[in-house]
Amino acid sequence: MSLADAKISVLDRGFIFGEGLYEVMTAVECNLLHYKNHFKRLRDGAKDMQLEIPFSDSELYCLINEVLARNHFACCSVYLQFTKGPAPRNHFYPSEYVPTLFIMTSPFKMPSCLDVVNAILLKDIRWQKCNVKSTSLYANTWAKTMAKTSGGEEAIFEREGILTEGATSNLFLVYEDRVLTPKENEFILSGVTRELVLEILRRKNINYEETVIPTDSLWRADEVLLTSTTKGVVAVKAINGKPIGNGKNFNLGVEIFEAMKALSFT
Ligand code: PMP
Repeated sequence: MSLADAKISVLDRGFIFGEGLYEVMTAVECNLLHYKNHFKRLRDGAKDMQLEIPFSDSELYCLINEVLARNHFACCSVYLQFTKGPAPRNHFYPSEYVPTLFIMTSPFKMPSCLDVVNAILLKDIRWQKCNVKSTSLYANTWAKTMAKTSGGEEAIFEREGILTEGATSNLFLVYEDRVLTPKENEFILSGVTRELVLEILRRKNINYEETVIPTDSLWRADEVLLTSTTKGVVAVKAINGKPIGNGKNFNLGVEIFEAMKALSFT
């Protein structure tokens, strides 16, 4: 159906409470990329939210494929959202509900080379369930807009002097002898692309550590990289106007970008 014809109830808990889960995936020639990892994260979030997903992974996969087949995009993003559906407005979770599932695909162009962006550093004002891919994204939309207002593309969050992640991406710091990335906990989303990058680093025998990273480490890094499903890997040229590394070479960024491109088509 067309987007204009899609309707949900004004009592949907996603609309009333911002209570919902989502995933953004990509598909090439109807081939849904890395969907097992996306479904796993969706199910982890559903467990946290006590949201019963009334479909098996293969049923979900079939539903998405049906939307892909009807749209015929060579390359597209797939947005999927679950909520507990409409219920009388009450903060308590409803004991009975019919979930709302929304699946949308949009044409999408895979980046053909490593993108380089400016970023800003912001206090991480988000909550302690950043590991849940929740639709309550006001802190993230606010941070992205602050970045854009400052002529940048992404906001990098720090919480009490410790780096967490970008407003829509995971973070990697590249040094001569190793790569650092914030360890998984309730302050970051376990990115599907983050895991892909770790796999690439393992295959290339590049040392990496998932660890606690003080904010100052940014200024000593040779490269700062951001990862997400729709952007792949992106290099950061400057943060708050301060150049990263020499501001010109993003060698590991390019290497990871190329490896990721190859993986995305397998
Ligand atoms: N962190 C946040 C806050 C995000 O919004 C995203 C993108 N959804 C990511 C990390 C990257 O996750 P993924 O690689 O699964 O797209």
